[in-house]
Amino acid sequence: MKYKNITVPFIRIDEIKIKADDFRKKFWGNTIPVEVEAIVEIKLKIKIIPIPNLFKLCSVDSQISSNFASILVDQDSYLYNETNRIYFSLAHELGHYILHKELFSSFGIKSIEDVIAFINNIPEKQYSFLEAQANKFASHFLLPRDILLGEKKEIIEKYKLQNINDKMVNSYIADSIAKKFNVSSQAAELALDDLNNKKASKNWGPCVSVRLFQYLQQTFSGHTFRFFDFQKF
Ligand SMILES: [Zn+2]
Repeated sequence: MKYKNITVPFIRIDEIKIKADDFRKKFWGNTIPVEVEAIVEIKLKIKIIPIPNLFKLCSVDSQISSNFASILVDQDSYLYNETNRIYFSLAHELGHYILHKELFSSFGIKSIEDVIAFINNIPEKQYSFLEAQANKFASHFLLPRDILLGEKKEIIEKYKLQNINDKMVNSYIADSIAKKFNVSSQAAELALDDLNNKKASKNWGPCVSVRLFQYLQQTFSGHTFRFFDFQKF
């Protein structure tokens, strides 16, 4: 498999939304906040494994294993969770689980060397498509747009914000929405902007890196993590 030639299939946003909504309704229902940690560990039986300094050393918040049996998370983000960012990371990994498992399987990755070759060779643009798709899934999964719209209207009426520029309103109410949905203020504001069909910025970091795998190899010597080997699934 020549990783340089990988082309990530385009998935329309409405398709991602439907998949996120269906998945949430199946495993949670249609109430907020969506308790993604409980869905992952109790309903899907995917183990969450905190790893010390994962973000600091590898610039990643989370990583799902190839057999979908576990998700590694940055220990501090998970334990202290000051911004709810970790919930978005878990939902992002579920996005890969739902949207990309067949695609990753087609890459034929079977060893740590394959993983490193994959990361080094997949075109940056194609990799960014994978990440953007998983982020869109996470956003729709944690912030159901119908409920979000209802909450936004309620706040606008309560605080009489009807005649204020929409972008300013979104920025103003993001903290309050974030608390209700258990997400970060940034994720809340992006979803609010998305309600207005405004182009949301895509300032998302990668979730896979060579440094991560090297770090894991050192930390768990003798135990090989088989990321992106979807053959067993
Ligand atoms: Zn990712």
